[in-house]
Amino acid sequence: MKILVINCGSSSLKYQLFDMENESVSAKGLVDRIGIEGSNLTHRKTGAEPFTLTTPIKDHKVAMKLVLDALTDANHGVLKSLDEISGAGHRIVSGGDYFKEAVLVNDEVMDALRKCIPLAPLHNPGHIMGIEAIQHALPKLPNVVVFDTAFHQTMPDYAYMYGLPWEFYETHRVRRYGAHGTSHHFVSLRAAEILGKSPSELKMITCHLGNGSSISAVKNGKCIDTSMGLTPLAGVIMGTRTGDMDPACVPFVQNITKYSADEMNNFMNKKSGLLGISGVSSDLRDVEEAANKGNERAQLAINMLEYGITKYIGAYTAAMGGLDAIVFTAGIGENSASTREAVCKKLEFMGVKIDTAKNNIRGKEAIVSADDSKVKVLVVPTNEELMIARETKRVAF
Ligand code: AMP
Repeated sequence: MKILVINCGSSSLKYQLFDMENESVSAKGLVDRIGIEGSNLTHRKTGAEPFTLTTPIKDHKVAMKLVLDALTDANHGVLKSLDEISGAGHRIVSGGDYFKEAVLVNDEVMDALRKCIPLAPLHNPGHIMGIEAIQHALPKLPNVVVFDTAFHQTMPDYAYMYGLPWEFYETHRVRRYGAHGTSHHFVSLRAAEILGKSPSELKMITCHLGNGSSISAVKNGKCIDTSMGLTPLAGVIMGTRTGDMDPACVPFVQNITKYSADEMNNFMNKKSGLLGISGVSSDLRDVEEAANKGNERAQLAINMLEYGITKYIGAYTAAMGGLDAIVFTAGIGENSASTREAVCKKLEFMGVKIDTAKNNIRGKEAIVSADDSKVKVLVVPTNEELMIARETKRVAF
């Protein structure tokens, strides 16, 4: 069975074709700058050199046609016929509280996706265009939508509600939704597998730490809390995002800068975080390098990140009434041994014991806690595309 995983933005279309017999990727690629000058397709058959085509691509329908042509091309294609594709899985940033899990696309689902646009105005319109494009090209193909928010839909109301007046929830659906759910779901399942246990017998904290970061409490296989909120701005300090702060900082800064709501939103999302504090970079590698050379603001940014992660783990351990495993994933979680070590050292008091030698790895699956650590610590590289392919297979077949 072949599943095409699609991640469409407003001007981009990323894809991976999975062979579900062995869950391998046969081909993948990216259409970039859709509707903008300089649009192009980069396609790569696994094991072959990439193929690039620069041509005007006016919309997502044209982009999808190019992708399907590339997949069936005599030279760099991997399919004899498009009939070999059994289904398509679409990454969707926000399903609001309409969708508690992945679902097969129908007209009702498309209507609900449109209703979720205010919750992800930069992402959901592109996702919808992607679905329409493949429906246009392959009308009989089953499409499944897989939501970044779905895994967090098991949070209890007291964890997802904000202390705003009730009408803001009832009328405008203002609440915590979280993000990176597909990643948290994938690594929590894989961590349980590595530990030889069922997710239903574990209390885990999954730390997706990348340019955007979120931390989730996963109790008995279900998410009970997560650090991102209505939008991905909440939680620990990120590459360019503030993370948590007193909400009154917003009008306070606006009074000084005279920023509009949109300008303020942009400021908190793009100019803040590690970049804003260090003044060096949003990339932790650059910040670490500057700190090692004595840059105090860079060191402060690192301290804030490590302290924030530690606080969330402490809070979520209390929320779950215990902790069996901490799972690190994404760019920082998979690669920064120093971040993992610093966080785990602060948590020694609650039975977390990292093994410095085992922890000295990058981008590889491993248990990095000491054999006698009460709480296991794991590194699990995330694979959101594979999770989408698996969900598509589960839902559609
Ligand atoms: P992502 O958004 O998952 O691609 O993660 C990007 C983040 O991972 C950036 O802040 C990178 O600096 C960070 N990262 C990647 N490799 C390393 C590394 N070897 N050490 C520290 N941070 C890293």
